[in-house]
Amino acid sequence: MDTHAFKRSLHHSERYNRRGFGRAEEVAESLEQAYQSGLIGTIRDNGYKLKHGRLRVRLAEAFGFCWGVERAVAMAYETRRHYPNERLWITNEIIHNPSVNDHLRDMNVEFIPVEKGVKDFSGVSSGDVVILPAFGATVQEMQLLNDRGCHIVDTTCPWVSKVWTTVEKHKKAAFTSIIHGKVKHEETLATSSFAGTYLVVLDLEEAQLVSDYILGSGDRASFMTRFAKASSPGFDPDRDLQRLGVANQTTMLKSETEEIGRMFERTMLKKYGPTQLNDHFLAFNTICDATQERQDAIFSLVDEPLDLMVVIGGFNSSNTTHLQEIAISRGIRSFHIDTPERIAEDNTICHKPLGEKLTTDTDFLPPGLVNVGITSGASTPDRAVEEVIQKLMRLSEA
Ligand code: SF4
Repeated sequence: MDTHAFKRSLHHSERYNRRGFGRAEEVAESLEQAYQSGLIGTIRDNGYKLKHGRLRVRLAEAFGFCWGVERAVAMAYETRRHYPNERLWITNEIIHNPSVNDHLRDMNVEFIPVEKGVKDFSGVSSGDVVILPAFGATVQEMQLLNDRGCHIVDTTCPWVSKVWTTVEKHKKAAFTSIIHGKVKHEETLATSSFAGTYLVVLDLEEAQLVSDYILGSGDRASFMTRFAKASSPGFDPDRDLQRLGVANQTTMLKSETEEIGRMFERTMLKKYGPTQLNDHFLAFNTICDATQERQDAIFSLVDEPLDLMVVIGGFNSSNTTHLQEIAISRGIRSFHIDTPERIAEDNTICHKPLGEKLTTDTDFLPPGLVNVGITSGASTPDRAVEEVIQKLMRLSEA
């Protein structure tokens, strides 16, 4: 399918909008009330530090809502204003944050139901308005909604669109896209729908397997089994790993994406030599600034003397999980929570350790002077961070 041509024709449709409705001022107050925080503003002005009795809070210098998310949420609010009476859907959580998604439900925005992992669009009718979330939607979903006569409000972050353009360039030049991402993540699903031949690698270990295969030391059967669900239909590692371009899910660890890019460059250099490298490897630059800033900020934060860290963000939020990984890698007692309600007045915390199920710990805030680092993922509003800090303040007074 010529996804580029499809996008171009969709962008010219009268039923398609990706720029908002010019109602930013009308929705500004609701957005401020729902998501912004005076306390966070004060802490920012105080060098990202707060002292409260025995409690010392140190905020990461970049955290929370990125501009792509702010833009998507504002567009969703504008859409409701612009279409007050139409049935309004969203193809997925607009961002990975429960409180934001609850606000949308309160505004009568319906989420496309999912049955056994498959989205059910049967309730969507011609004339309905459908919002595509910040991390995008697959080209097949866009096509379905367009064919059904829906109005499409596309809040896909421009950084994500940039990755789509990159994989389309790979496709046009007959390169296979190596996508560094999580195979089931909506953004990676969308990106692979715009790619031609592709292979999704989760981490350096998987990238190494692919590299070994290219250099002749892999086993075809085990390769096919490992990547069966992470490659384009009919993928043949002997045919499809000769010309590679790298792309990424925008929220992956920047350092890892870069290392994977370098690994494939070295691999192709070894196999084909410097004179032919450009025919076999395409460099890339699709790492989102906001993800990078949040990762850089937590790297500085973990150098501070911290007794514990609280990482706030949706449990299925990739960029939040990476923040948690960084804290854990420094041996800091770290708690990933999705909402402030996870911290209870009896000093217990219900949190999600990395790769594990939710668990409840007692004696969350230790006695005496305590230094707490706080960060949040790109889809967490300041209001949620404020509530967490207020809870910490109350616990420290108890
Ligand atoms: S994290 Fe980056 S790619 Fe994702 S919505 Fe924010 S700005 Fe866009």
